[in-house]
Amino acid sequence: MALQKGKVMSEWMTPKRRFLSALFGGRVDRIPVGNPTSVATIELMEETGAFFPEVHLDAKKMAILAAAGHEILGFDTIMPYFSVQVEAPVLGCEINWGDKETMPDCITHPFKEAEDIVVPTEEELLKVHSIRAVVDAIRILREEYPRVAIIGKAMGPWTLAYHGYGVQNFLMDTLLNPERVRNSLEKLQEISVMFANLQVRAGADAICFPDHATGDLVSPEMYRDFLVPLHKRIVTRIGAPVILHVCGDTLNRAQYIAEEHFDCFHYDTKTDVAELKKILNKKVSLAGGINNPEVLLFGTPDDVKKQAHFAVKAGVEILAPECAIPLTTPNKNLRAIVEAAKEIQIGR
Ligand SMILES: [Zn+2]
Repeated sequence: MALQKGKVMSEWMTPKRRFLSALFGGRVDRIPVGNPTSVATIELMEETGAFFPEVHLDAKKMAILAAAGHEILGFDTIMPYFSVQVEAPVLGCEINWGDKETMPDCITHPFKEAEDIVVPTEEELLKVHSIRAVVDAIRILREEYPRVAIIGKAMGPWTLAYHGYGVQNFLMDTLLNPERVRNSLEKLQEISVMFANLQVRAGADAICFPDHATGDLVSPEMYRDFLVPLHKRIVTRIGAPVILHVCGDTLNRAQYIAEEHFDCFHYDTKTDVAELKKILNKKVSLAGGINNPEVLLFGTPDDVKKQAHFAVKAGVEILAPECAIPLTTPNKNLRAIVEAAKEIQIGR
């Protein structure tokens, strides 16, 4: 891919085509900008009048705040699930939905045994307020934005197990009771797949699939043994392209991620992107490239653009913040990702 700076190209793709084509490693008129994870900011809440915490449970407000990512920031995608806690009430966890300036948090972890996990029917799942809100928000967005890529999000079984058991308890189990871990993940995947497909039916073009088997806490061997066979099956069961999201430095498990057949990997900038690209090669597209805590939160639009150029040169197909952004991130830094994408000439 040859890059030239400066000249603004003409755009001939809709945001949805641009995003989906890049997701599958295909041709694009310019690099798309997406958000597999949340880009909600306090500035966007103030501009739209749709605020945390109401947006987590009110489909209309959720859709309005999510759409701001496209309308106000210019992203090619809209993604209406702002936290990681939407499925937690399904597991019986109590949630603190937070306030205007904080993300929701799971305050109880009811699981002791795999038998404690009850897989709901689709109807039961849809009765859970937080689940219903996301599915309805996607339906509203699909209706209003036929040309924009709508991304849904469903947590993977590893993340659901953190909610259900608590992070420490679940990680202890990986050493002390791997059988319980396996049985739990098997059951929890049903919730991941069911929620993902409810969002696909409501109109989602792709599903972000965060499974927080993060570098510092989970070894590459654990990732390979517990998750690779499971992820491979899950991908075939979801009726849309799937974007894996894992935070932290994931280079030591990239070879396993390459085997899972996800369409795209949403990576953290702690990972050496050139090395990551070498390992994933053309098997999995890359989304991300823009650092949250230093660049988006405290950097300047110029810092953002420099990182965007670097990421595309390294082979990133979709520019995106690396994870859910801090709520006080300035909008001008998020807009700079889109400005950079419009400047970057791609030689194909
Ligand atoms: Zn993340």
